[in-house]
Amino acid sequence: MSEYPSRLVEIIYHKSGVKLSTAERIAKAIEKAGYLPVELVQQQIASMEVRIADMKAGRLTYCAYCGEEFPIDADGTPEAVSNHIHNCPKHPRITK
Ligand SMILES: [Zn+2]
Repeated sequence: MSEYPSRLVEIIYHKSGVKLSTAERIAKAIEKAGYLPVELVQQQIASMEVRIADMKAGRLTYCAYCGEEFPIDADGTPEAVSNHIHNCPKHPRITK
């Protein structure tokens, strides 16, 4: 949720026209209550749809154990995946 508070304050501030300090207090109350504004949920869904499309098109691969994603055609991906397998906290360890 790290990117949410400032974005939430921004939305409240610009949409309501209240003072910045008021927007910050409202944002804190909304977060404390466990709610997110529709705009943020829509952004989250759009971002996930892009990731799903990338996976379906074969532009992304991911760790089946923790979900970390890797671009398939980027430089250094084989090394990054190999490195990840050795350091992934959820990946089963190979023991002798
Ligand atoms: Zn992993």
